[in-house]
Amino acid sequence: MVEKGILVVLSGPSGVGKGTVSQALLQAEPNLAVSVSATTRPPRNGETDGVSYYFVSREKFSLMIEGDEFLEWARVYDNFYGTPRLPVEETLARGKDVLLEIDVQGGLQVKNKLPEAVLIFLLPPSWKELEARLAGRGSESAEEVQKRLQWAKRELQSLSLYDYAVVNERVEKAVEQIRSIITAEKCRTVRFRDLKI
Ligand code: 5GP
Repeated sequence: MVEKGILVVLSGPSGVGKGTVSQALLQAEPNLAVSVSATTRPPRNGETDGVSYYFVSREKFSLMIEGDEFLEWARVYDNFYGTPRLPVEETLARGKDVLLEIDVQGGLQVKNKLPEAVLIFLLPPSWKELEARLAGRGSESAEEVQKRLQWAKRELQSLSLYDYAVVNERVEKAVEQIRSIITAEKCRTVRFRDLKI
């Protein structure tokens, strides 16, 4: 029988660098596969369907909720995002680890359904730095940046419900820490099935 993979949930406020850390982590961990979310938000420049997201209409998203197709879903700002359940379950059953890069509330929903999921909260080194990163994206107004900062402060209230916190000061260091967490979790979940005692 194949050993089930582990489910790693990487969450944290908008602008903290979840995407960059995820990409570097996927490069470093060949047994890790990323889950592709469904979203109602329109594609940004150059985004192709099926790479980071499946872009769906609100109607389709509602049908997916009704059909219980999501492991979790959340409204983030004005759009809906959800993790399709089946591909995650199938990948884990094949022994691959799965990475979900989702918002903080979504992470808590996953933990509720699958207590064995490993929740990692990615933190900015400081509020000032988070503000600078949000502003540096250049895609939002100053007012929008402030709204996201307020949102981030609310999200931080869920920090204690997470299994781990990793500060994203440097991507390489954050990746190294997350890899250690994955290794530790694999040791923790060693099954006794094969031990003849
Ligand atoms: P963006 O629109 O900038 O790509 O993503 C906005 C936020 O939605 C980010 O915090 C991202 O991690 C989160 N997100 C992306 N996919 C999912 C998902 O499937 N579920 C949840 N709950 N959040 C998601």
